[in-house]
Amino acid sequence: MTLTDRIENVELRLSEACMRSGRKRSDIGVIAVTKYVSITTAVDALKHGLVHLGENRWQDAEAKWRVISGGSDSAQPNGGSNGQAVWHFIGSLQTNKVKDVVGKFDYIHSLDRISLAQAIDKKAGQLGIQMPCFIQLNVSGENSKHGLPPEELASFVKQLAVLNHIKIAGLMTMAPYEAEPETTRPVFRGLRLLRDELNEKAILPYEVTGLSMGMSNDFEVAVEEGATWLRLGTVLVGKEEE
Ligand SMILES: *Cc1c(COP(=O)(O)O)cnc(C)c1O
Repeated sequence: MTLTDRIENVELRLSEACMRSGRKRSDIGVIAVTKYVSITTAVDALKHGLVHLGENRWQDAEAKWRVISGGSDSAQPNGGSNGQAVWHFIGSLQTNKVKDVVGKFDYIHSLDRISLAQAIDKKAGQLGIQMPCFIQLNVSGENSKHGLPPEELASFVKQLAVLNHIKIAGLMTMAPYEAEPETTRPVFRGLRLLRDELNEKAILPYEVTGLSMGMSNDFEVAVEEGATWLRLGTVLVGKEEE
């Protein structure tokens, strides 16, 4: 399959999932996860109109970032100011990589501990920016998955509320791989309910809207459950051998 074929296929399935659930296609952002593909393919994805690029390790992302978005740190993330691409850091983030990622990536999807939040806040403060972050939750309870236990969300957000250089863009989760994608529905529904409960508690002075959920195997179910950001690797940009 060519990239054009893959994009058309995803768009078709996406529009059907929107139809089934009464949602608007324009309310859903698609992040092309380029971690399995070459710089050439990532550039090609941009040329095909996939503006949002996702990477899960700085060591692997760095070369792509330098080619696509230039060599200098952006002091103003959001909305494609790093050149054309909007960069999403989706993998678990080591505290010592924060200095590399903040200022280059526009969103972090994997905020799951207060020490990481403090490091992000400090670096963003030095750059004079506010860093949009998704709080990653371990909704499924699978211990192999990273993420905050759901019962700790409210107290975590209270601690984050004092960090002025972090903006909570939403919640993120990964569902376990299931042969039957329908099985993942309770995980995605759970994340949506956690977001709604969080907003009811009104801990933050603003509403948290984003839901980063759904991957190649399960994105249609995630759309039906309210995903606002899909993170699509294999199904969208493919997987290339080393
Ligand atoms: C790799 C990865 C994805 C994309 O995976 P696919 O199954 O290839 O779509 C999405 N989210 C995270 C956090 C990832 O690490």
